[in-house]
Amino acid sequence: MKKKKRQIKKIPCIIAAVVLIILGILIYKFISDILYKRTYDYKLLQKGYKEEEIVYLKENYTDKLDDFLNIDYEEYVIPILKEKYFLWKNFKTYLEYIKEKPDKKQEEIIREVNIGTYQPFYTNAKEADTTKEYALLVNKYNFLSSDYEPVDLVRANGQYTFSNNQYMRQEVYSAFTDMFFAAKEEGLTLLINSSYRNYENQQKAYKDYEDAGGKSYADRYAARPGFSEHQTGLTLDIFTPEFPTTSTFHLSKEYTWLTTNAHKYGFILRYPEGKEKITGFSYEAWHYRYLGVELATKVYESGLTYDEYYAYYLDN
Ligand SMILES: [Zn+2]
Repeated sequence: MKKKKRQIKKIPCIIAAVVLIILGILIYKFISDILYKRTYDYKLLQKGYKEEEIVYLKENYTDKLDDFLNIDYEEYVIPILKEKYFLWKNFKTYLEYIKEKPDKKQEEIIREVNIGTYQPFYTNAKEADTTKEYALLVNKYNFLSSDYEPVDLVRANGQYTFSNNQYMRQEVYSAFTDMFFAAKEEGLTLLINSSYRNYENQQKAYKDYEDAGGKSYADRYAARPGFSEHQTGLTLDIFTPEFPTTSTFHLSKEYTWLTTNAHKYGFILRYPEGKEKITGFSYEAWHYRYLGVELATKVYESGLTYDEYYAYYLDN
């Protein structure tokens, strides 16, 4: 009798246990589902990111995953991140610019946003960071105030110049004289034709063009006041007596020598051929910018214009 009773009791116990286990599994599934939905893996998948892209983001942008949830998924998002000169601070601007110019190469998108040329010249211009000293960048987006004047201007001796009254910063002068003698040893003559120009001079030069043909005409031939690199005292226009003009200097042996030696003395060719859209200036074989030997060598070896180099490596 007793045995039978126990057996009868056992059946509901088993049922209860099974129900409990099933319930347990369901609760576990329910909770883990809730937890999973709170993970970045889930949220990014929902956004449209592929699994390998999520792995990439988690490895490289751990603390910025929320930013990716706040933008629409596009096929170009991950490739943009992998571009060589990608800068996080410009990320959203790259995305906006791609939408505006879907046919542009990503490399160009990156470059144009980094240096500012995705907007017309002189748009959003800001005061140049003069604390950068010899690395100072002046271009059509970075200007010097009307009262900026380098503190250590010196006047070059007449043997180094075409005309009197050529001023430049002390260190630039010393670097130029070293370069002058190095070139001389190879039978070449480098002479300075133009150097420091103050704000007022640039203002006058620009106004003369403007009076003659209007603003866009003036913009084609002169930098607006404050936007000329010559105001830094770090820039020299260099010619040689045999080829003393802007239309002929590139044909000289001196120019050829400068293309491979100027950086050894701290100078770079500031407006290279074919880079007009980047620098905002036509090719100027005669216009050299002093950066110091170390930086000039790095820029030279990078193959970048100074505008690009500065935006990526120096403008933090
Ligand atoms: Zn110049």
